[in-house]
Amino acid sequence: MPVLESKPDVLVVGGGVAALAAAIEAARLGASVRLLDAAPRELMGGNTRHSRNFRYAHSAPTPATPDSYLEDDFRADLLRATEGLAHPVLSDLLVSESRDLPRWLADQGVALQRADDGNLPYSRRTAFFLGGGMAAVRALYDRAHALGVQVRHDAPVSALRLDGTRVRAALGGQRLMSAGAFVLANGGAHAAPDLLREHWGDAAEGFLNRGTPWGRGELLRGLLAQGAQAVGDPGLLYLVAVDARSPREDGGIVTRIRGMPLGIVVDAMGRRRHDEGADTASTRYARWGQRLAAFPGQIGWLVLDAAGLRAAPPALYPPIQAGDPLRLAQQAGIDGPKLAATLTEYNARIVQPDDPTDPSRWRTAGLEPPKSNYALPMVEPPFSAYPMRPGITFAHHGVAVDDRTRVRWRDGGYLDNGFAAGMIMAANLIPRGYVSGLAVTIGLVFGRIAGREAAAYALGGT
Ligand SMILES: Cc1cc2nc3c(=O)[nH]c(=O)nc-3n(C[C@H](O)[C@H](O)[C@H](O)COP(=O)(O)OP(=O)(O)OC[C@H]3O[C@@H](n4cnc5c(N)ncnc54)[C@H](O)[C@@H]3O)c2cc1C
Repeated sequence: MPVLESKPDVLVVGGGVAALAAAIEAARLGASVRLLDAAPRELMGGNTRHSRNFRYAHSAPTPATPDSYLEDDFRADLLRATEGLAHPVLSDLLVSESRDLPRWLADQGVALQRADDGNLPYSRRTAFFLGGGMAAVRALYDRAHALGVQVRHDAPVSALRLDGTRVRAALGGQRLMSAGAFVLANGGAHAAPDLLREHWGDAAEGFLNRGTPWGRGELLRGLLAQGAQAVGDPGLLYLVAVDARSPREDGGIVTRIRGMPLGIVVDAMGRRRHDEGADTASTRYARWGQRLAAFPGQIGWLVLDAAGLRAAPPALYPPIQAGDPLRLAQQAGIDGPKLAATLTEYNARIVQPDDPTDPSRWRTAGLEPPKSNYALPMVEPPFSAYPMRPGITFAHHGVAVDDRTRVRWRDGGYLDNGFAAGMIMAANLIPRGYVSGLAVTIGLVFGRIAGREAAAYALGGT
């Protein structure tokens, strides 16, 4: 028999940026707040702890961001990335509310890295957390504790009990927890092996999860089964190329592999399948995640010669190395004669440009697929290979919400006292596509709104 617990005004499910923003805002408005996170304390912070930056609109330089990033620019970037599918009202809200985030974060004790400290790439669109997402999460937990939020780790919620459109209680283990209002901020459903298998079949075995293993999506599926309106597509994943030797889960940002334009990418048969020089810096490694998902066995290798390796960005694991392509292939598990033949043909098809000092002008001719940039000769030993797999960041799938973050029902109604924030509703804004720093902004903006709405409802305002 489940135990009935004492009743807070607001019960927040989750433990990343959306949950913390909601809990803090609700507590600031005078609500009693309990926050339940499935993860143990040492792994608190969900995917947010792996994050680095967030996107926000500003009309003048700030200590954290040079130049300006106007609301219109932000809106245009969002529309372009999502092919016009971002919800228009929620997009406007996201963009306009994003302006206030640096101030709000500073008030909660979260520090941002200075743009001019020499450690950051130029970025007028995004601000970076000083110390990364983990430092931001710790500061937000400290603030939540100081405001009296009751935090429980190791506290997964498995289901919501509804009376019509009213959430009556959350079920976690043997506990049935009631509250005046509920905020669902339990992240995305990116770590649900059965869901992945449903949409990707055997290929799902070849994917690695870069984020928290607690993104199993049980609450999302429960809500959809009870009548909530879905947004996005459960099979559509935001994938990036990660080192195939990384942990299956929670590898974080350091496992990503970049540097594809500096070499060639082959499958297990030693074949090139795409133009490695085609993509611009900011989208490159995300595109390779999608491509690797279509490789046989969902595995590919970035192959570099010594010159390519010197120019490549640092990686977590050392590359597999050998003095010649045949021995490299043998060690890596690639077809050796085919890899050697691929390299020979690639080198033979390079056309030297008029200005050979500019690597971006080197390209191939008569090669299929072509290499349209950085097609430099690959002749200097030793040769290196990084094995790569698709790494899941999130799924473009969630529940529909309105501008108050109320969960929308398929029949057009709403949950009276159930609000959703963060990745569980992010597909309203990003049903496809992505631009850097958007996910944390969605968590912060809609987490704050959900916290205010939940407190207002529970305290009798609405
Ligand atoms: C490696 C990596 C790097 C990233 N870098 C960036 C970046 O730099 N900028 C950016 O904008 N985005 C980034 N993202 C995406 C971004 O971090 C997340 O999408 C965003 O922080 C999600 O916030 P959230 O609060 O919705 O979810 P999360 O931070 O994932 O938190 C979800 C929380 O819910 C808990 N939970 C899950 N299920 C339950 C349950 N049933 N009961 C109770 N608790 C539950 C989890 O334990 C977790 O604490 C990155 C993601 C990854 C994986």
